[in-house]
Amino acid sequence: MIPFIDLKTQYGTIREEVLNNLNAVLESGQFILGREVSELEKQLAAFTGSKYALCCSSGTDALLMALMALEIGPGDAVITTPFTFFATPESVALRGATPVFSDIDLRTYNMDPEKLEETIRRVQSEGKLKLKAIIPVDLFGQAADYPAIRAIAEKYSLPIIQDACQGFGAKDATGAVAPSMGTIGCTSFFPAKPLGCYGDGGAVFTDDEELYGKMYSILVHGRSSEDKYDNVRLGLNARLDTMQAAILLAKLKIFPGELERRQEVAHTYMECLDGLATLPVILPGYRSVWAQFCLRSPKFREIQEALKADGIPTARYYPIPMHLLKAMKEYGYKRGDFPCAEEAASNIFALPMHPYLEKETIRRIAKSIARAVGQ
Ligand SMILES: *Cc1c(COP(=O)(O)O)cnc(C)c1O
Repeated sequence: MIPFIDLKTQYGTIREEVLNNLNAVLESGQFILGREVSELEKQLAAFTGSKYALCCSSGTDALLMALMALEIGPGDAVITTPFTFFATPESVALRGATPVFSDIDLRTYNMDPEKLEETIRRVQSEGKLKLKAIIPVDLFGQAADYPAIRAIAEKYSLPIIQDACQGFGAKDATGAVAPSMGTIGCTSFFPAKPLGCYGDGGAVFTDDEELYGKMYSILVHGRSSEDKYDNVRLGLNARLDTMQAAILLAKLKIFPGELERRQEVAHTYMECLDGLATLPVILPGYRSVWAQFCLRSPKFREIQEALKADGIPTARYYPIPMHLLKAMKEYGYKRGDFPCAEEAASNIFALPMHPYLEKETIRRIAKSIARAVGQ
């Protein structure tokens, strides 16, 4: 089996630096927050052009911290996409707020700005819930259409929480770097994400000093900025381990080069797979970080079987749209509510994607797919 995501080859290129960084943490005896975490926050803020970056324990906790800082809770509605990883609507529901879905653009799999405005109007005219925020998702590594979404958000005075858990480093057509496009940006350093650590990790980003201050407090049980035993609000224990920051410092150094390689890999896939399945669409001027390389085909089952027989792993992101999950039952959605998300979920599948994928391997994968679809 070839690897779906090749963390072993990557480790080979950074072994010495990772071990040195980890050794420095072990020698220092400081395992929570500390110098490495502050240094990483400085570098993450600079990389994205955000004023503030704050590391935390996962992408899910990043979303929760953002929702808590914006004081979102029972009686509030948050609009997001039905085609994402469950953590997006789950974080909203965990706050006691109501996730309201708005269908995707089937080309990019991201939130459709036109449908977003219809959804906002509908929630407002129903008048049952107070609309508090929008969570666009940068699915598979491509930033959502932030120029259009921001114009709508501003029209209705709604903050944007950017779920860039798959999109760290992605660019939109204005050249903005994810997750700096929203009021608060969230990312994940789960090992399989484009920038991953060796455990769980995440970060929040913002230019707003007040929101930063609130999230700084929420990160450690609602501490006050002067005295950590003077708790001023309810918070979480959402800190990042020092060792994970030490690992991320080594990984961030090679990240720009890896992004270049990801562009080349995606480009080669596009060339080799043309006409064999529905290819990903990257909007003009956008740079995807290619967290996943996903195709759609009515013959996805046959393709997955053929690839498996040839030692090539595949995955399905995501086979069930959020509104049809059992855990979302209480919100009363039904099949047919979001045709684009349902269509995507019905026949999408993902191929191996990482910066160390060789051209030869990509050609082998393409040949296997061509045979499976009878071309
Ligand atoms: C991975 C992911 C999350 C959650 O991140 P964790 O670090 O695993 O908690 C949230 N949203 C999306 C879109 C993701 O892909």
